[in-house]
Amino acid sequence: MIKTDILIIGAGPVGLFAIFEAGLLKLKCHLIDSLPQPGGQCSEIYPKKPIYDIPGYPTILAGELVDNLMEQAAPFKPGFTLGEAAVTIDKADNGNFIVTTNKGTQHEAPIIMIAGGLGVFEPRKPPISNIEDYEDKGVEYIIKDPEFYRGKKCVIAGGGDSALDWAIFLTEKNIASEVALVHRRSSFRGHLDSVQKVMDLAESGKIKLITEAEVVGIGGEGKVENVTIKHQKDGEYQVATDHFIPLFGLKPSLGPIADWGLEIEKNAIKVDTTDYSTNIPGIYAIGDVNTYEGKLKLILCGFHEGTIALQSAFARIHPDKKNVLKYTTVNGVQGF
Ligand SMILES: Cc1cc2nc3c(=O)[nH]c(=O)nc-3n(C[C@H](O)[C@H](O)[C@H](O)COP(=O)(O)OP(=O)(O)OC[C@H]3O[C@@H](n4cnc5c(N)ncnc54)[C@H](O)[C@@H]3O)c2cc1C
Repeated sequence: MIKTDILIIGAGPVGLFAIFEAGLLKLKCHLIDSLPQPGGQCSEIYPKKPIYDIPGYPTILAGELVDNLMEQAAPFKPGFTLGEAAVTIDKADNGNFIVTTNKGTQHEAPIIMIAGGLGVFEPRKPPISNIEDYEDKGVEYIIKDPEFYRGKKCVIAGGGDSALDWAIFLTEKNIASEVALVHRRSSFRGHLDSVQKVMDLAESGKIKLITEAEVVGIGGEGKVENVTIKHQKDGEYQVATDHFIPLFGLKPSLGPIADWGLEIEKNAIKVDTTDYSTNIPGIYAIGDVNTYEGKLKLILCGFHEGTIALQSAFARIHPDKKNVLKYTTVNGVQGF
């Protein structure tokens, strides 16, 4: 059981900044995110795009903003459960909440701060009837740790940057023993230089490039041993492999949080704007995931909401302590 003061669901920019504001109040945070890396939409959708409306930064790349937020949060030693989705919430006898992930990891905290943005990013799965039987038995939709594939045969499917970049990485770093990249079309949607690199690796025989083809079947005893490929011209044939990694992108959905008894409006959580609390005492919602009159889905609004919500959370955790607002210019940053 992971115990903390504030359990933040969602490690997007809003969840990350909340660590800092909680730290100033001497509250410890642990974050859960279904993605393998922190940063939410900034890391997953547009890491290389410049943002122009972060106060004090005339321009900053979304990926750089995430790096800075991680650096700013570091003195407060946050914990992370990454690559796991928060699915259920229960009340313990002591009044704390217990949040369990889809992998069974349990977390206990008196305060839950939902910073879930657009929701869980769920993988787009190829329509293969038995694919779920092989999930975590050779089928993975996200590459969390490339070392997991060391010395293994991998079939990657997809035509975007993720499929191209991982095919290149696993090949160039000599991690996988074999890499095949399967794509429905002959052209790719990814960056031109990545496409060129894949073509070069294919020409030198390091990547097996199979275009105008789809993976239509998976076989193996208890784990992936082969996939069936349907080629537009050559028909169907089997390829031996240890892993099948379809990288078709992720789609957001509010997901399991929608069943937690929270008041939901237009796929977002209704909050009281005095402290961004939800209808369940002890649960707050900040950032893109909440809704109220006049709501703007902007990063700077989420930073404000988290700051206010944490003052209220402090008062719930320490009903007898008076919190006096202290400027960081006066007190500095006292890490844990
Ligand atoms: C292309 C693009 C450009 C944008 N440009 C700007 C801009 O210029 N300026 C600006 O202010 N905003 C911009 N935005 C919007 C901005 O990215 C969002 O407002 C911001 O990301 C919201 O942050 P967040 O932390 O609330 O949510 P998110 O960034 O969505 O992060 C939420 C995280 O919660 C996780 N999560 C959700 N549910 C669960 C669960 N049950 N278990 C585990 N994890 C969960 C998700 O995986 C995700 O990582 C842009 C958005 C896009 C798509």
